[in-house]
Amino acid sequence: METKSKFLKVNCSKCKNEQIIFNKAASRVKCLVCGAELAEPKASKAKIKAKVSQVF
Ligand SMILES: [Zn+2]
Repeated sequence: METKSKFLKVNCSKCKNEQIIFNKAASRVKCLVCGAELAEPKASKAKIKAKVSQVF
């Protein structure tokens, strides 16, 4: 399995805010607009909770 780090463009499921997040985030990532959780840290990579629209 590839565990390369990537940047993801996600859309908040609550407010549709578009935000760039890191797929190996070490801490919880929250939406800058509404505060909804977008990603949760896991052992190897973050669990993304928002809708991913683009991967860099
Ligand atoms: Zn939001």
